[in-house]
Amino acid sequence: MSSKEMPRPKPGVMDIAAYVPGRETVEGVAKVYKLSSNESPFGPSPKVAEALAAKKIDLALYPDGASHELREAIAKTYGLNPGNILCGNGSDELLGLLCHTYLGPGDEGLFTEHGFLVYKIQIMAAGATPVAVPDVELTADVDAILAAVTEKTKLVFLANPNNPTGTYLPVNEVRRLHAGLPGHVILVLDAAYAEYVRRNDYEAGIELVSGNPNVVMTRTFSKIHGLAGLRIGWMYAHEAIIDACNRVRGPFNVNALAIAAGVAAIADRAHVDRAIEHNDVWLGRISEAVEAMGLSVTPSVGNFVLIHFPTTPGKTAADADAYLGSRGFVLRRVAGYGLPDALRLTIGDEEANLGVLDALESFMA
Ligand SMILES: *Cc1c(COP(=O)(O)O)cnc(C)c1O
Repeated sequence: MSSKEMPRPKPGVMDIAAYVPGRETVEGVAKVYKLSSNESPFGPSPKVAEALAAKKIDLALYPDGASHELREAIAKTYGLNPGNILCGNGSDELLGLLCHTYLGPGDEGLFTEHGFLVYKIQIMAAGATPVAVPDVELTADVDAILAAVTEKTKLVFLANPNNPTGTYLPVNEVRRLHAGLPGHVILVLDAAYAEYVRRNDYEAGIELVSGNPNVVMTRTFSKIHGLAGLRIGWMYAHEAIIDACNRVRGPFNVNALAIAAGVAAIADRAHVDRAIEHNDVWLGRISEAVEAMGLSVTPSVGNFVLIHFPTTPGKTAADADAYLGSRGFVLRRVAGYGLPDALRLTIGDEEANLGVLDALESFMA
């Protein structure tokens, strides 16, 4: 076969830099603390295993293609209409679904300079043009985003709080961003870390969606609910957006175990509260301890911190990553996010947190 006859992906696909997940293992190290993917140190609620055992789900049957039970459980928890909710195989699927539903060649999708990488990947996968907007102090800049909007812009992605920076925009800034967008532009508020935020001026986006046909909020069960392995996400939006996305999505995009697990997880408020409480304590402790070592930490409202390293040979982010890895602590390199001198550290359980602080201290000494 000559190369002329080879199948070719559509234009743009081969320009995509594939997503690289956080490492799980280190060669030659037996016990590893995975602090690279912002998973919950608490894991899922024990109610999840109970529900799965009690339900005797028949794996031979297709799941409910409309995720009715899960949408109703989410709606009840947040006081929403289930008709405005769409569930997905992780919120990543929903971010992609929005791109495939609203973007085509010639359209532009906006995201912030140090924003979550999935946006750029999915914008490009839809054949559209990705537009990165500069941040100010590792924080989304509303004026810069608005200045980048053109008549070709169809989607604006904002992770709030953002991963990997941990920074957030207060609700008045999000409202100002929305107010400045033309009506044909959808503002996607990715609130994957909303539960962790303890700031009076923060809002995940429910109010903004409720009052506007061009705002979407996405949420996930992967972080606070400790269910990353099952892949459950949901979005809240105007019926017209839900209707359009329902036409494009796979007919059984959420599996039967995920639906049952999600229903059980969201009902266990105490489990969520424990995870929030633990994170609040350790986010502060870790941030202070790392700064006391002479490293700078971007103030975070999520379940992770971004640590900045010097460029001095022997003390760089790459050196730290190698050293911490050899001690069994796996952090996330974030060069792909334009942050070559930083590492992202997920808040773990007490043992992992104390251990990684100890290892970092030795590295810096
Ligand atoms: C982890 C994360 C998600 C969640 O993705 P899932 O597909 O639901 O696991 C979404 N957005 C951001 C910014 C994240 O960091």
